[in-house]
Amino acid sequence: MSSLQLIDENKNFNEHLLPYIQKYYDGKDDKGLNYHIVSVFGSQSTGKSTLLNRLFGTQFDVMDETKRQQTTKGIWISHANYIASTLVESGRLDNENHLFVLDVEGVDGREKADDKDFERKSALFALSTSEVLIVNIWEHQVGLYQGANMELLKTVFEVNLSLFSSSKQKCLLLFVIRDFTDMTPIENLSNSLMADLNKIWSSLSKPESCQDLTITDFFDLKFTSIAHKHFQPDKFEHDIQLLGDRFASTELFKNEYHRNIPIDAWTIYMDQIWQQIEENKDLDLPTQQILVARFRCDEIMLLAYQNFEEQYEKVDFEKLDDPQEFADSIKQLRTEALVPYDTSASRYTQTVYLERREQLAKKIDSKLTETNSRRLASVIKKLVKEFSDRVQAAKKNHEGSLKEILAAQTALVTASFREDAGKCMFDHSQELEQLETEIQAATEQIRRKEKSLLVSRLTKRFQSQFKEKLTELCGDPTDDLWDKVMVEFSKIEDGLESKFLVDGVYDYHLGLDAKENAELHIDLQKAHWSKFRDIVHDYVTEDTVSRILRNKFEDLFRYDEQGVPKMWTNTLEIDQQYNKAREAVLKLLPTFSRIVLAKTNEEVVPPVNISSGEFEDLDEEDEEVPFAELLSTRQQTGVLGRVRKEMDAIYIEAKRSVMSSMTS
Ligand code: GDP
Ligand code: MG
Repeated sequence: MSSLQLIDENKNFNEHLLPYIQKYYDGKDDKGLNYHIVSVFGSQSTGKSTLLNRLFGTQFDVMDETKRQQTTKGIWISHANYIASTLVESGRLDNENHLFVLDVEGVDGREKADDKDFERKSALFALSTSEVLIVNIWEHQVGLYQGANMELLKTVFEVNLSLFSSSKQKCLLLFVIRDFTDMTPIENLSNSLMADLNKIWSSLSKPESCQDLTITDFFDLKFTSIAHKHFQPDKFEHDIQLLGDRFASTELFKNEYHRNIPIDAWTIYMDQIWQQIEENKDLDLPTQQILVARFRCDEIMLLAYQNFEEQYEKVDFEKLDDPQEFADSIKQLRTEALVPYDTSASRYTQTVYLERREQLAKKIDSKLTETNSRRLASVIKKLVKEFSDRVQAAKKNHEGSLKEILAAQTALVTASFREDAGKCMFDHSQELEQLETEIQAATEQIRRKEKSLLVSRLTKRFQSQFKEKLTELCGDPTDDLWDKVMVEFSKIEDGLESKFLVDGVYDYHLGLDAKENAELHIDLQKAHWSKFRDIVHDYVTEDTVSRILRNKFEDLFRYDEQGVPKMWTNTLEIDQQYNKAREAVLKLLPTFSRIVLAKTNEEVVPPVNISSGEFEDLDEEDEEVPFAELLSTRQQTGVLGRVRKEMDAIYIEAKRSVMSSMTS
């Protein structure tokens, strides 16, 4: 099992740590927390690497005894190939729980400045990352308070205080006493070591908050021994296997030692910690963990979203006609996007995990809400069309007044929308509002159409009745022709109203309110008055007037008061009759020229504005003919000329007939 130089002699961090680790454990099938980190510490050439290689099947460099050559300085990492054990015949247990070992090389506790720096940094690094720290010590060094080992432990304790005084992250210090002779019982050696440790501890300058704390508040301490490698080779191996048994059991690794950083993030965590150590910055481990959590949760979030988008693209939402199917598919997409995120990210700092989860959910929801809205827009379109069709059908079936039908169909459509949209988890209040606005508009349109239908129906009746009356009155014109016309106009209007007004309201089917009713009344007035104008202007032309006046003259000239044809006896009589009739007829011409009431001598003016509306402010040239003006001066002259000629012809004919009867 080859090892990896994690930190080299130039204090550079190895970039290939992650692939190295993942070769043995990628943490994909579990939460990535099934691993352990063990470090070893101690003076140079005390057999640390030898112990690790035997205990864990690693291949750390061991000093060549023949050359006494130093091994390469730095921190090395290796996956344990096996764990030495007495429990199996092969003497090797599988490394099921992924034990990784850090071997710190080149620390000898001498007072060289550079070594001192490396020693301190190594201690910091080992403490911030490991669960178990093996402290390797010769038996003959125990009790010698002075010396390299004690310096090293002092460093470890100092560093520990600066790192964990607030968080009290604990780890295990496992003292391994080498070349154990069994002359002094292990208990005594332990006690002696404990005494030294306490001495070191009390000599440290501690922060205010840690004054009353002891070593055991920060460290669990255990002691073990291994026999001499050369003098007792069998016992040496056996002792190592016994130690292996403890590593394979749950005895040494307590949950509280573990940093709970999933293995894929652990490499980032280590890297960041080393950078901080190297830059001599204050090492804030909780912050480091949060940074790692952010980094990883961001990655996981991105991946989850990408995955979501892929799944999203696969769904053909257009085909999901059934609202339940659509809602289910939306829900499923959302869940399937969040579950893998939860699985991977929930292992990290909770606040970060939850914060990123919210971001992810928001992003997913935004896309899904958009999809839902798109669907609801087409549902609205369909419902609005259905609404108009259903209203027409209900009208045909006489399912109540239009007002009732509209109300019923509106309720129906709204309910149907609510039921449909309510199946999806997303809010639809905005879409509901949209639907209501559109239904309102459709309703308005239907009512408008209905109202204009009513107006045109009434106007048609008005038109035929008025035309008939006008023709009748003009056939036997009098000076007060327009007074009579106006009386008829009112009569027709009243007649129509009495037919269509129910309790003062036009067509109760429409459910008009007072304002609408008043508006409709004005619309009707306008329609009637413009029909009035059109009919009168069409009818009263030069031709019609000439014919009417000629007929009137004939009546007056040829018949007496009793309507009996006149028998002329002399020409004087003819002259008298001619003058009388002519005078009466010519007096009628102004009546046909302008609509003026005889009673008041005032022009008739419509009570409502009937000009073509939008074009009210046109140029003077385009001005419409005034309402009351029927024949222009030129037309009047034309009529006069024609009527005169015809009257004269009738007169002459009468005279001739009298003369011829007298001469015969
Ligand atoms: P390290 O520098 O602490 O990693 O020590 P090494 O493992 O490289 O060993 C240094 C020297 O000590 C080598 O020559 C080993 O053969 C020797 N050695 C290893 N283990 C023991 C032991 O248990 N007792 C003794 N006396 N020597 C050992
Ligand atoms: Mg070594």
